[in-house]
This record gives sequence, structure tokens and C-alpha cells, in this order.
Amino acid sequence: MSSKSVIMVTGGSGLVGKAVQWVIENTDDKCGKREGEEWIFLTSKDGNLTDPAATKAIFEKYRPTHIIHLAAKVGGLFGNMAANLDYFRDNLLINDNILHNAKEFGVQKVVSCLSTCVFPDKTTYPIDETMIHLGPPHDSNYGYSHSKRMVDVMNRGYHDQYGCNFTSVIPTNVFGPHDNFHLVNSHVIPGLIHKSYLAHSTKSPFIIAGTGKPLRQFIYSRDLAKLFIWTLREYKEITPLILSVPEEQEVSIKQVVDSIVKAMEYDIDYRFDTNKADGQYKKTASNKKLMDLNPDFKFTPFDVALDETVKWFKENYETIRK
Ligand code: NAP
Ligand code: GDP
Repeated sequence: MSSKSVIMVTGGSGLVGKAVQWVIENTDDKCGKREGEEWIFLTSKDGNLTDPAATKAIFEKYRPTHIIHLAAKVGGLFGNMAANLDYFRDNLLINDNILHNAKEFGVQKVVSCLSTCVFPDKTTYPIDETMIHLGPPHDSNYGYSHSKRMVDVMNRGYHDQYGCNFTSVIPTNVFGPHDNFHLVNSHVIPGLIHKSYLAHSTKSPFIIAGTGKPLRQFIYSRDLAKLFIWTLREYKEITPLILSVPEEQEVSIKQVVDSIVKAMEYDIDYRFDTNKADGQYKKTASNKKLMDLNPDFKFTPFDVALDETVKWFKENYETIRK
């Protein structure tokens, strides 16, 4: 990165954006803020990125040299199942507006954010970066996952036609402080932290959607943030990079529930509602490419990250997104 950089983070008020801000402000210069860097964290109040004029106005105002592009319409399994078209259109528009303006304004590098749901549903494991376009994604969130796949197509096109340095990363399921703790439209960890809190405080049943059998790899938002910053500074390719904990750290939803009950320090029972969807059974991803490039990176143990998240949830309950 050159000595004077303006780094714009879209989606700066979300789970991952807040983690990037935390890392920039609270860690040393390996991941933290460096001399000559100005960091800008956007929220939707700065402008609706589905709107071309509003997006252009943001670029005119800040003139970014680098972008971490996180802004997206994001939801868990049940939010996606209810509104696949909205997830498709909003994210397609946001990504097109960001990348088009990044090219027009001569941005030196963009790191956009995909998700492991971009991978084919029917595949071999572990999944790696070469497999994105090899078959249809899982039906439950086809809108969101197709819109995210198109970022990889655009990155390739902007590089081939205009020489742009636009790349992407593929995180697994993320959790941490500042997550969306909504009871329906959230992901499993924040959703179940909130549901366990209500079950405990109102002495009502704690009900888990699905069978508890699906498997997921979870990455702590602050680890992901460090890897985003490393990618912006060090990663040289246009093709995507999976940002994941090792395959051995994949856990079942039942294990997640048990860990949440322990972290919340509640003496409560739960049961599964098997009439609710399980979604994709697993999407086990390989982090080999990442670890070959960044072998010293240390992931926060799942239980430590969950304790920090639960502590943050309890301390901020009145103001959290719910
Ligand atoms: P999040 O907490 O829901 O935050 C979304 C962010 O995007 C917020 O800052 C929001 O702004 C902004 N935003 C949404 N729509 C916008 C619009 N039309 N115009 C401008 N800003 C808009 O999401 P997240 O979990 O941090 O996700 C960040 C990225 O990681 C996304 O690209 C997502 O696809 C990806 N990802 C997430 C997960 C996960 O498990 N959470 C897993 C894999 C990949 P406001 O706060 O102002 O509304
Ligand atoms: P995704 O399926 O990886 O996109 O992400 P989610 O975080 O939405 O869901 C993961 C798994 O958790 C699925 O198997 C769900 O059936 C299960 N699950 C159990 N309870 C909940 C809940 O309250 N919210 C969500 N989102 N998922 C839940």
C-alpha cells in the first residue's frame, strides 16, 4: 500500500465492519492502523448503495484509494428462504454500484466479501476456491448466493478489461459483538443467544430450529477482521480466498447450542423443532490456501470467542439489533 491511503469500509456498522474498526483501533500495526492511512466506516446513513447516484456521491466525497466492501443485505437461513429475490437484487445492485465506481474513480484495490454458500450444494469435500461455479448453490438461499457469485465474475471482468485489482474473500459463518440478534432474520449463533436469553428470563421453552445435525465452521468476527486487513495489504490474486478455521473445527448445530447454554451460564433445557428447515447439511471448506500464504495466523478458540460475544450481548442488550 502507498504511504497515503484512504480506506473505505462499506457496511462499517455491521458485524464484520465493527470488527474491522475494533481491530484497526485496538491492535498493533501488523493489523492495526498504520501511518498515512485514513479509515472511513460507512453505514447506510451515508447513502443507500443500491442507488447509483447515492453511491457515486459517496465516492466523490471520500475519494477512496482502497475499499473493503462488506455492505450487503444479510440474513440467516429463514430470512433468505422468505425473500430470495430481495437478497438477489439488493446485493447485485450494491456490488455493481461499488465495483463500477471503484473502476471509474481509479480505486487501487477492492476486497469484496462472498460467503461459503456460494459453493455448489452437491460437491466433494473439502470445498476449495476453484469450485465456486461448478454447480447450483443450495436452494434455501439461491438469491443471495448467486448475487455473491457474480462478484467473482465482475472481479475477473474488471481485471481482464481494465486491469483493476478487485478481489474477494469467502468467509464461513461469522459471529461476534455487534451481530444481528433478531429472533427470525438472524444467523444461528446470535439468534440462539437471544432465544436462550428470553427462554431463561421468561421461563419459556428454548426451541432450536431443525434437527441440530447440520455442520458449520464458525469464524470469530475479530479474527475475520484481521484476515480482511491482511488480505487488503498482502493478497495478490484476483481469484477468491477462503477465510475459515480448519476443517477439524467444524461443529454441529447441537454442539453450538450446548456451547451457548454453557456460555450464557443457564440451567435450561432445549428441544429441536424438526418441522423447521435444516438448510444445507454442510459446506466444509478448506483453509489450505490461506494457511499456505499466512501460516502464522492464530484463530481464537471457539469457546473464548463465544464467551466474548455473550458478554457483549449481555452488556449491550438494551441497544443491540434485535
Ligand atoms: P450486517 O451485520 O447485517 O451488516 C450489514 C452492513 O451493510 C451494515 O453496515 C448495513 O448498514 C450495510 N448495508 C446493508 N444494506 C445497505 C445498503 N443498501 N446501503 C448501504 N449500506 C448497507 O452484516 P455482516 O454479517 O457484517 O456481513 C458483512 C459481509 O460479510 C456481507 O457482505 C456478508 O454477505 C458477508 N458474510 C457474512 C457472514 C455472516 O455469518 N454474518 C458470513 C459470510 C459472509 P446499516 O447498519 O446502516 O443498516
Ligand atoms: P446458514 O444455514 O449457514 O446459511 O446459516 P444459519 O446461521 O441461518 O443456520 C445454520 C443452521 O442453524 C441451520 O441448520 C438452521 O436450521 C439452524 N438453526 C437452529 N436454530 C436456528 C435459529 O434460531 N436461527 C437460524 N438462523 N438458524 C437456526
